[in-house]
Amino acid sequence: MKRRTAVRFLSLAGTGGLSFGIHTQAGAAAIVAVRMWPAPDYTRITIESDTALQATPFFVADPPRLAVDIEGIQLSTALRDLVGHVSPEDPNVAGIRVAQNAPNVVRIVIDLKRPITPQVFQLTPVAAYQHRLVLDLYPTVPRDPLEELIAQRLRELDQAQAALAADDPLGALIAQLPPTQDQTPRPPPDHPPPPPGPIATDPAAPRPAAPETRPGFAAKQRPDSPTTGGRSDRLIVVAVDAGHGGEDPGAIGPGGTREKDVVLAIARKLRDRINRTQVNGHTMRAFMVRDGDYFLPLHVRVQKARRVEADLFVSIHADAFYTPRPRGASVYALSQRGATSAAAQWIADRENAADLVGGVNVRARDAELQRTLLDMSTTAQINDSLRLAQFMLQELGRIGPLHKPQVEQAGFAVLRAPDIPSILVETAFISNPEEERRLRDPRFQNQMADAILRGIVAYFSQNPPLARNRQV
Ligand SMILES: [Zn+2]
Repeated sequence: MKRRTAVRFLSLAGTGGLSFGIHTQAGAAAIVAVRMWPAPDYTRITIESDTALQATPFFVADPPRLAVDIEGIQLSTALRDLVGHVSPEDPNVAGIRVAQNAPNVVRIVIDLKRPITPQVFQLTPVAAYQHRLVLDLYPTVPRDPLEELIAQRLRELDQAQAALAADDPLGALIAQLPPTQDQTPRPPPDHPPPPPGPIATDPAAPRPAAPETRPGFAAKQRPDSPTTGGRSDRLIVVAVDAGHGGEDPGAIGPGGTREKDVVLAIARKLRDRINRTQVNGHTMRAFMVRDGDYFLPLHVRVQKARRVEADLFVSIHADAFYTPRPRGASVYALSQRGATSAAAQWIADRENAADLVGGVNVRARDAELQRTLLDMSTTAQINDSLRLAQFMLQELGRIGPLHKPQVEQAGFAVLRAPDIPSILVETAFISNPEEERRLRDPRFQNQMADAILRGIVAYFSQNPPLARNRQV
């Protein structure tokens, strides 16, 4: 019944049979801005207004589209602009139409590329934002990051094997034979990294042999599997979390630099380095928790890292203060009992506020449950995190000033994976004009990514992931 009504309205909207609001109604809400954040995880549309908007969504399955009636507004230029915000690369949205559907009702029709489970919710004013109406469009079949990570690795192995076969057919044949003992040549632990290039299998790595290596992925899911006696490819996964994103710009420097942009740039450089590095003969893989300009709630970042069974979690940020002088890097770990200093507490409060600015649907069914589950921090996790943080601080101290000479701890929501050593790196002060310039400088971003990579490698060299798993 409702569906038929929806279709009728939609076809009206599609054929241009629209009645545009001519009279400006007293008391109608003014649209301040419309924004769109496409991403593989979900696409968000935000409509910001000076008063709260009432919205009624209805979904039409075939072809998939979402219509949202917004009451109390007139069709404005800002709303019409939404049509032009659709990116052809948007994985979820094919197009948008807007129309004045009734004297005081604007209808937005979102044509979808795949079935979507929408979440429509309101956010009250916070930070620089006024009232926000949020349309979050989640793919009904969510992506599986672990599968994607494995698929990517298998593609690389296939490519490497094809290249090997082209160069050395006999070698390729031998590589396909089942392993006997561990006679695979191993690179020395400090072998030089290959020249930069597209993500590639490390040429110094043991010869890839797809049939033997594929079962190695099971080792990733079964931490007790032996990895020292064969050629099993115990993939070490490092979750790289670029802070903030989308609606949440993070801190903003005096020159307008946004934390979310510079930390993503550093995170991508770190990803490329991780993907061409081995530790103790094991291939490392970076899992980008966020790889684009969109917002992820803090507990979702933790969930995503757990989903890929990450061995480490590194959250990358840029610090800020009210005055321009503070500078230097610092490293944080989770605390179970209060913060190690008032300053650390202040930073944790500021970073935890990301959810307010970024915008979380507090009524989403799983959100509260997930947050509760993630409150079970463990002493083992914190001890491992502190070890990692110590290595990291040492490496950061080599490339620039440190803001704090020791690792600090506080209740950071994003560090709450109970089974993954997790740290948060404040790379530099974006509020310091000189450090803001450095944060934008690709050379500094490279140095920072190098230093974080060295910290990760140093940690794994002394704390192999399997030993860690046995302790927990
Ligand atoms: Zn931050």
